[in-house]
Amino acid sequence: MKNTVAVLGAGIVGVSCALELQRRGFDVTIFDRTGPGRETSYGNAGVMARSSLMPFNHPGLWSSLSKLLKNNSASFRYNPLFVAKNLPWALKFLASTRAAVFHETTAALDALIRLSATEHRRLLSEAGAAHRLRTTGWLFLYRSEEGFLGSQLSRDTFGKFGIATQALDARELAQLEPHLKPLFTRALWIQDTSSVDSPGQVVEAYARLFTARGGRVQQASIHGLRRSNTGDAWQVTDDAGTVREASRVVLALGPWTREFAKKALGLSVPMAFERGYHMHYRAAGGASLGRPVYDTGGGYVLSPMEQGLRLSTGVQLTDRAAPRNLAQLDLAEQAAREAFPLDARLDSEAWLGSRPTLPDSRPIIGECPGRAGLWLAFGHQHIGFNTGPGTAALLGSMMAGETCAFDPAPFRPSRFLG
Ligand SMILES: Cc1cc2nc3c(=O)[nH]c(=O)nc-3n(C[C@H](O)[C@H](O)[C@H](O)COP(=O)(O)OP(=O)(O)OC[C@H]3O[C@@H](n4cnc5c(N)ncnc54)[C@H](O)[C@@H]3O)c2cc1C
Repeated sequence: MKNTVAVLGAGIVGVSCALELQRRGFDVTIFDRTGPGRETSYGNAGVMARSSLMPFNHPGLWSSLSKLLKNNSASFRYNPLFVAKNLPWALKFLASTRAAVFHETTAALDALIRLSATEHRRLLSEAGAAHRLRTTGWLFLYRSEEGFLGSQLSRDTFGKFGIATQALDARELAQLEPHLKPLFTRALWIQDTSSVDSPGQVVEAYARLFTARGGRVQQASIHGLRRSNTGDAWQVTDDAGTVREASRVVLALGPWTREFAKKALGLSVPMAFERGYHMHYRAAGGASLGRPVYDTGGGYVLSPMEQGLRLSTGVQLTDRAAPRNLAQLDLAEQAAREAFPLDARLDSEAWLGSRPTLPDSRPIIGECPGRAGLWLAFGHQHIGFNTGPGTAALLGSMMAGETCAFDPAPFRPSRFLG
């Protein structure tokens, strides 16, 4: 019992934590109601970028806020009722644009992203999935000089953290991505970026590595979590009423964490949902992309994937389970067709997922205050696929009582809990 860990959630975060704890000698079981990498960690854009240290709520947000509040762009939509119901979250989210918070967040995310890059490479190789990794960077595309100049804060921040980038003019962009239509006057090539051709398959490969090393993945919908009467174990109850005990638990339920933590533990997690859609397309006329591109004016990301070109939309801030609204996807598709020769849609239905976001855009990583043995790893907003393995490395060091690769204080649960 002493060394047993129950990991709740088999997204990139849960599976990475399970592998790391197993490597450290713990006896680990993962519980998930679907299977490894079938939810948010399946549908993302597969980008692992150093530039992702820029949170959505950076100091420059204020200059674009009036435009975003019009609620008609492809990059950002919101449900006013959701914002009203989650006003404390929204106010803290906006307050986190303050320079001091921004500096702490970018430094913390930079460290987490760098650690994750090393861990991902190790895991991809150990899991036999290294062929899925592309190291061609990604491109921010600008439809006007004004758009490019508006990205000054991002470019300054990338420079501050030594992130390799190259500004391109239209001719240089055409050389790098010859099949993009001549729509973009400027681009920023972020070279310190890799990407994968199937994030879901990567998580599945990591899960196979975990089971090959003796770990267990249990398909079960978890319903309850409580301390045992003796106080030295946690009891995990599934929907069928089966109770399993473990000395430690890792809560890694991604966007479902808020609901579960409230219901099972009475914990209020200040999480909002930045929902996003994706759709796959065949490229027309043999066109291709060598790397993911982010059309900053069009508000979408287009990534080459195993299934075709994956178009991912920006943010829809609303309840996790609110009805679908495909307006953003339609708008993004229209913009993407202006930029690239896309053929017909390949999926009968758009995929929908939720980026789980805490007010300061940093995940929670660490032991829950006042609940020994309950470890938390959630809230990875736009960058969870990127930062799952670094999260696991930090959590593993903390659980083992070792010094972490860097100071994990910016991710401490006590920011919002206890
Ligand atoms: C459109 C879009 C594009 C994105 N693009 C990128 C990108 O390019 N790069 C990047 O790094 N990140 C990206 N992200 C963010 C990234 O996908 C998430 O941050 C990450 O997948 C979160 O991982 P997770 O393991 O925390 O959650 P999940 O992958 O959602 O895993 C949670 C798991 O918990 C399970 N679960 C939930 N409730 C229960 C229960 N009661 N019992 C049992 N199991 C349960 C679910 O089945 C699920 O498997 C994107 C997100 C979206 C929506």
